Amino acid sequence: MDAGIIVGALAGGAILRALQPLARFNMTSKGLNLYTFKAALNVLAHHRFWEHAQQVIGARITSAYRSPGVNKAVGGVATSDHVKGLACDFVPQGDKQQAVKKLRAACAQGELGPVRQFIWESYKNVIHVGYYEPGKTGGVQYLEQYGPGQHRPLVTS
Ligand SMILES: [Zn+2]
Repeated sequence: MDAGIIVGALAGGAILRALQPLARFNMTSKGLNLYTFKAALNVLAHHRFWEHAQQVIGARITSAYRSPGVNKAVGGVATSDHVKGLACDFVPQGDKQQAVKKLRAACAQGELGPVRQFIWESYKNVIHVGYYEPGKTGGVQYLEQYGPGQHRPLVTS
C-alpha cells in the first residue's frame, strides 16, 4: 500500500466516526427516516449537548431527527424542530420532577447549548429540547405542555 492509500483510509475512518451520531439520532419505529443535508448538519452540530443532557438526568432519548414522513406518522406538527434536526426528546427515569428541575438548571447554565425551547410535556412524560440554528442564539422559553396544544410557563420548585 502506498502512503496515499493509507492516508485516505485513515481519513475515511475519521469521517465515518464523525458521522456515527447520525445513525444514533434518527431512531424511529416508523420506517425510513432519511436525513436532509441541512438536518444532518444540525444534528452533527448539537448531538453532543443531547448526549450530555442524557447523562445529566439518566434519561432515555426517544426521538431526535424526524423526516417529514416520520414526523407525520408520529403526529408531530409540520413545523416541528425535529424535522430540522433541531430537537431531541428525553424520557426521564425515576423522580420526574427532580429530573425536569435538574435538566432545566443545566439548560440555564448553558450546558445544553443554544436551546430555544425547553418543554416538559408532562402528559406524555417527555422533555422536549428545541434548538436555534447553529451559530444563532437567544433566550430560552421554558414551558410545560400539560395536554395537546395546552402550554403554560414551566414551574419547577
Ligand atoms: Zn420533541
